[in-house]
Amino acid sequence: MLTDSHCHLDRLDLSPYNDDLGAALNAARERGVERFLCIGIDIKNFPYLIDITKKISDVYLTAGIHPMEFNDGPVEFPEEGLAGWLEQAGQTETVVGIGETGLDYYYSSDAIEAQQQSFVTHLQVAGKLNKPVVVHTRDARDDTIRLIREYGNLDSAGVLHCFTEDWEMAKKGMDLNFYISFSGIITFKNAHTLREVVEKVPLERILVETDSPWLAPVPYRGKSNEPKNVVEVARCIAEIKGVSYEQVCEQTGQNFARLFRLRGLERENRQNV
Ligand SMILES: [Zn+2]
Repeated sequence: MLTDSHCHLDRLDLSPYNDDLGAALNAARERGVERFLCIGIDIKNFPYLIDITKKISDVYLTAGIHPMEFNDGPVEFPEEGLAGWLEQAGQTETVVGIGETGLDYYYSSDAIEAQQQSFVTHLQVAGKLNKPVVVHTRDARDDTIRLIREYGNLDSAGVLHCFTEDWEMAKKGMDLNFYISFSGIITFKNAHTLREVVEKVPLERILVETDSPWLAPVPYRGKSNEPKNVVEVARCIAEIKGVSYEQVCEQTGQNFARLFRLRGLERENRQNV
């Protein structure tokens, strides 16, 4: 079951679809995408995302604050603080995971402490709620692994999303029970090293994602990305691993359902819009 395991539905460019999110999702469904995980990255848009996922049965949700949110100064939390907000948000019926959280030292070093504090809180709440955590990591390999090891719940684990690091980091993540999610970056011409990582990571540990609206795969590079383009990511993995496209869709879909514990969560009584 082809699944876009990471998309930001509140940030898609819907202009080709007359501002109709349902039409963008239909375009993906027409290409065989059967499930979507919509990733929350701020407090402001979260109520809108709850609204979407309550109405559309093949869209699941996560709750979190993106590490880059801290780069422009302190983030304002509601009265109950980050932990309180996350705990509440994490118990929403359609929420299957905590994040996007993590560490990104690429642009700013001023925010390192705030990012780390937030990451630790996400890991703790995820552990408490027994939900997997969606982790963003860039230029922060050692700290990411260290904090997961120290504060993460290896039982509920999580995913290193939009993976662009090396094999050593992938291995450390898998040793902590994490899955590795690949995005359209693996289709980029110069991504040789990353494709070598794809080759080595067992298909049983891989998820596929778009990270839309960002990072459109070849041949859509430079355009706004959307969930339908997860097909190109799955195709690329099939090519690298020398297995069939169907096998990649099937296995990564199973991996997704296992990680996010979807059994029993399929909501039959809800209708697609
Ligand atoms: Zn993301």
